[in-house]
Amino acid sequence: MDPASPGTVVARFRDATAEDALAAVRAAATAAGPWAALPAARRATALTAVADLIEQRVDEIATLITREEGKPLGAARGEAGKSAEQFRLAAQLAYLVEGATYPQEAAATFAYTLRSPLGVVVAVTPWNFPLSLAARKIAPALAAGNAVVFKPSPVTAGVGAWLAGVAAEAGVPDGVLQLVQGQDPAAMRALVAAPEVAAISFTGSDAVGAVLRREANPRARLQLELGGHNAAVVCADADLDAAAAKVAGGAFDLTGQACTSTDRVLVAAAVADEFTERLAEKVRALRVGPGDRAGVTTGPVATAAQHERLTGLKESAVAAGARVVAEGSLDDDRDPAGWWVVPTLFADVPDGHPLVAGEVFGPYLTVVPVDSVEEALAVVNASSHGLVTAVHTRELAVAHRFAQRATCGIVKINDRTTGNGVAPPFGGWKASSGGAFPEGGRQALDFVTDTKTVYLHYGES
Ligand code: NAD
Repeated sequence: MDPASPGTVVARFRDATAEDALAAVRAAATAAGPWAALPAARRATALTAVADLIEQRVDEIATLITREEGKPLGAARGEAGKSAEQFRLAAQLAYLVEGATYPQEAAATFAYTLRSPLGVVVAVTPWNFPLSLAARKIAPALAAGNAVVFKPSPVTAGVGAWLAGVAAEAGVPDGVLQLVQGQDPAAMRALVAAPEVAAISFTGSDAVGAVLRREANPRARLQLELGGHNAAVVCADADLDAAAAKVAGGAFDLTGQACTSTDRVLVAAAVADEFTERLAEKVRALRVGPGDRAGVTTGPVATAAQHERLTGLKESAVAAGARVVAEGSLDDDRDPAGWWVVPTLFADVPDGHPLVAGEVFGPYLTVVPVDSVEEALAVVNASSHGLVTAVHTRELAVAHRFAQRATCGIVKINDRTTGNGVAPPFGGWKASSGGAFPEGGRQALDFVTDTKTVYLHYGES
């Protein structure tokens, strides 16, 4: 469904049944062995070809992302570029499935490690980055020689099908990348509980993450990337113009629908009024409309449920005494039935209101004055979640101490909370993650391989 025009159906797929899901897992299990047995160079070539095809067809896939998910075309093209980069990095990872050698206490023995693929890896992804989050899971799993069962969000099923088609065209052999569509509860249970499933990499909500913890095959390795509750901290010495631009980007880009979006900005009280006014200017410049229209900065939210939840959240905050400091504008030439949510900057939100107490996942930002960096750190660290925090300051020592002490998986210094590279680890702390394996980069191989230690006795003594 096009969120800018919800009557328009973009693509139709049949919901997989439990039988379909099990058949996909079995077919993947059959395909995994021959794929793992190929030389690394063959897997690397196929993964490079996926990257090339994504780049060659960037217009086609960006248009589909915008039509299904709603983000502006420029952001969709950026996502496609990032996805190609994930596959390029994974092509290198195919050569980096390395072991180590170890000296021994005993004479004439020698130990070394081998890394083996796990077999079948299930990748379950949300709708907010339908291509790049899928790429971040699928590409390293394939690089190491695993087969993958890919379960995209039903909201962006077309993007999921597109990626599976491109992989086949690029030379990923039949069966190695399976696609399971829909969200039928029996199918989901069958998929995650299947005995052949060795690992499940999931990105999505805390609620579904909890279901997976209960229902997944207990022997399957879990990688759960869950919700965020992210703050930006603006110190009194910060470059306020630069900070306002970065904080607005982190809060409102992608209509606030990133797990790394900024929910609240903790501002040194001494500069709070001045900073809030600069931020308000940025918010007033935002224009909400269809993602394929020139001049539109902010697309619709992706689903009717998001629209209803966010509309209610604003009403309840205002009823509780929150002050609307600034709002963006709506494009005149839009389908009124679209799932539009106007970017809004709030202040004076009562403590404990859901607008400041948990993940917002929409284009709302709240200003909260604080008296010191210590107070900001205490507020950040009190959150149950710990994905990403930004700190804006010109003082290197303040920035570094903040980075050391913040209880979250990612710290951004003088930057947006959103956005991440393909090489560094990506993962949250506390309730933002489950499983000990971050995604991203070289360390992604840890999740998709098993280590075997080989002791070699080569003499009589
Ligand atoms: P969601 O949890 O509703 O869905 C995520 C995926 O899980 C979808 O593919 C969905 O079909 C599938 N699913 C639903 N029920 C399932 C079940 N019982 N068993 C197996 N799979 C099931 O999340 P969403 O609404 O698509 O995405 C929004 C959430 O994702 C937000 O909370 C956001 O913070 C989080 N997110 C986290 C990260 C991160 O890296 N930490 C990144 C992006 C989004």
